[in-house]
Formats: sequence, C-alpha cells, structure tokens
Amino acid sequence: MKKILIANRGEIAIRIIRACKELGLSTVAVYSKADEHSLHAKLADESICIGPAESRRSYLNIPAIMAAAEVSGADAIHPGYGFLSENAHFAEVCRKCGIEFIGPTPEQMRELGEKVSARNVARLAGLPFLPGSKEALADAETARKMAREIGYPVILKASGGGGGRGMKIVHNDADIDKSYQNCRNEAAAAFGNSEVYIEKYLENPRHVEIQLMADKHGNVVHLGERDCSVQRRHQKVIEEGPCPLLTPKEREKIGGYAVALAKHVGYHGAGTVEFLMDDDKNVYFMEMNTRIQVEHPVTEQITGVDLVRTQILVAMGEKLSFTQKDIQIKGHAIECRINAEDPKSFAPWPGQITSYSAPGGLGVRVDGFIYHGYTVVPHYDSMIAKLIVWAETRERAIRKMEVALGEYLIDGIRTNIPFHKEVLAHPEFREGRHSTRFLERAGFVKAK
Ligand code: ADP
Repeated sequence: MKKILIANRGEIAIRIIRACKELGLSTVAVYSKADEHSLHAKLADESICIGPAESRRSYLNIPAIMAAAEVSGADAIHPGYGFLSENAHFAEVCRKCGIEFIGPTPEQMRELGEKVSARNVARLAGLPFLPGSKEALADAETARKMAREIGYPVILKASGGGGGRGMKIVHNDADIDKSYQNCRNEAAAAFGNSEVYIEKYLENPRHVEIQLMADKHGNVVHLGERDCSVQRRHQKVIEEGPCPLLTPKEREKIGGYAVALAKHVGYHGAGTVEFLMDDDKNVYFMEMNTRIQVEHPVTEQITGVDLVRTQILVAMGEKLSFTQKDIQIKGHAIECRINAEDPKSFAPWPGQITSYSAPGGLGVRVDGFIYHGYTVVPHYDSMIAKLIVWAETRERAIRKMEVALGEYLIDGIRTNIPFHKEVLAHPEFREGRHSTRFLERAGFVKAK
C-alpha cells in the first residue's frame, strides 16, 4: 500500500492525511466544487474534484470516487466517518476493483451495520440488550403488541438509521400508529430503508461506548470507553473518557462484551460498540459502528494509541502492535464539537471566517479544517472543529477545556462555543451525574 485516497472532507480527511504522511504514504484528496478552498484539498499530495456541492453527486458518488482512485493510481481508500463509511456496497466495489477499503469486510458491515441484524448478532455473541423486536416490525399492530409486552415507554428506531435520526419515543397505545408511520416515512426518506424496530426506552441512561481495534490475524483489543451522554436530540455534543462512573472492573466487563461481539464475526479494523447504561450500571447493547468515529481523539489521548494510523496498518495486514495488557487508561480527556451554528437556536450559521485564532498549550488539541478567511459552506455538517483536552483528572480537564474555549476566537460566523461554556459550568455535568436527557432537563434545549 503506497497511495491512499481519502473519500471524505473536513477535519477527518485532514486527520487521515496526517496519519498517511507520518507513515510515508502518498495521499489523494477528493473534493466537491463547494470545497475548492478546503484545507483537505490543499494538504493532500493530489486533489481531484469529483462533482458538485450536493453530497449525492460528489462525496456519495461511488463511480466518481472510483474513477478518481483509478486516475490517481490509489491502492487503498479510507472512508472516514459519515458519507460512504458504512456503505457495504461501496466496500464491495472497492474489493472488486482491487482497492483496499480501510475498514471491515462488506459482509461484516452488513451484519453489524443494520441495527436489527446487529441486535441478533449481539444476542448470539451473548451480549445483554434491551427487550425488543428480533426482526423489523411488519405493521403498526405488531408494534402495539410488542410495546404492550415490553411495557411503555418504548422507542421505535430505523434499522438503517444513524446520526440520532429516525427515532420516536412512544408513551402509550394511542400514539403507536402515528409514531410508527412517521418513523417509517422518515427512515425511508433519510436512509432509503423504511424498516423499523422497537425496543424498551430507558428514561435516563448514560451513553457508554467501547473503542475496538482488531487486526486480520484474529487479535481484538478494546481501548476502554467513552461517555457520550451530553446529547442534543440524540446527537453527541461533548464526549469524554473514561466514563466518570466506571470502575476498572466494570470497564473490563463491558470491554469484554465488545471484544466478544467482534470475535463472533471475525471483525477487523476500528469499531465502536455502543451501550446504554442504567442507574444500576447494567449495560445494554445498542449498536455497533463499523468505522472510525468523530470522538476517537478522546481515546487517543487517554491510551496514547494513534487509532487512524493503526487502522491503516491493520488494513495493510500488520498485526496489532499492542495487546490488551498494554492498554492503560491514563488521565481524562474531553472533546467539544465546535459547530458553525447559533448557540441558542442551533440554526446552522455558515459564512466567512474573518479572524481565527485557535487555543493551545499542554494537553490541548484542535482537529479542524477552518482558517482565517475560509468560508464555511452550507452544504454539509455544521461541525467545523473538535477541541480536545487532556489532563490528569476530570476536574482539571474541565478547567482546561474552559480555558481553551475562552481562548478560541472565531469571528464572522456564530459558533456553539458559548453553549459549551454554559454546559461545562453546570453542576450536573461537573459532578458527572448527567444522563442523555441532561441538556433537555437542564433547559439547554427544548424537548422534542
Ligand atoms: P444513531 O445510530 O442514530 O446514533 P443510536 O442507536 O446510537 O442511534 O442512539 C443514539 C442515542 O439515542 C443514544 O445515545 C440514546 O441517547 C438514544 N437512545 C437510543 N435507544 C435508546 C433507548 N432504547 N432508550 C433510551 N435512549 C435511547
């Protein structure tokens, strides 16, 4: 493997380009017309325009990406997160074209990517999960029947869903029909798959996820957990590691579940197994993401393992350079997602950055793609940077994050930096008592 094409944009494309450069690999960036001035297109050794702004015709356009790989002579593709990263068909096309897809096999992606199928695999692998359907719901009547069996509240979820969308919480029989139909319609429109399933809804859970890394030789290691309980509409806003509530023994138990799941399907590559945790610290399998995640730097900071570098090495066929014993969790890391949006209404706020100064200092990391004079375009996700801090303890990490947020100057557009400051100052967050409903309950966001 000598040349890697990065089928993505923004901060993750840059993150991957960095890892490639450190490994002495050549890089090919692809970009849409709207991203002509994007940093990822400037930093790669070669850059190829693959279509107009609209994702469907550029970053999701498989023929255009494969043509770029062919023209540039790339022998591997890194999909990043989002876009085609969990598209099994894309991984299959790569395989047929003799290009290494940096990730698991299409078969593994199919088994674990669809949430209904993943629940069944998790069951076979012996993981605990919430009561719910074993298959996609046939109709609203089946949904009602199951909901009565499970007991309200329940949650209807799109099997092909992601990004916190395609979910409906239902509290009683009367709302089932409408919620079921809405969920199906939304799922069909957003994910091209109208399959919906049902599971028990937990009122105030924590979101705890395990980072996995597996090579092609059967070695699977977990790198501890991240707590992503600060969420707005089921979408992560702040992530941290380790989870302030877990003991090393509990970590080993949950990590063991994740490893068992990966081993069950012979998984290779980076992956994340997501769990919900209740007040008694019981965990329930929720889903597996078969790709690198936005919040991966949290794990990198507390374990010292470069996850993107490892992904590439594993794809090349190398054995993991560490065993489970080598993974020691050290200190505490927090990540704030910096979005171009109004800090009160959360409306996207694209535009030109008229002045820019990023924070710095010991234990402060910025993974972003914006710069002075850059224009944030309206076509994509509003996340423009990730601010990550590391310190010896959680308390010191929070303080460091506050200092870093205070230093972060981005003029010309609105960002959610003021919002992060307020969340960090809230006693519930500071004491680590918050659940996934925290932002709603504390009045930061309106309940939907
Ligand atoms: P996505 O793939 O869209 O990220 P997930 O299945 O990972 O969806 O769920 C995202 C979030 O939605 C969770 O972190 C949690 O806050 C909420 N959620 C999902 N399932 C449940 C459930 N059964 N009970 C309570 N909250 C849930």
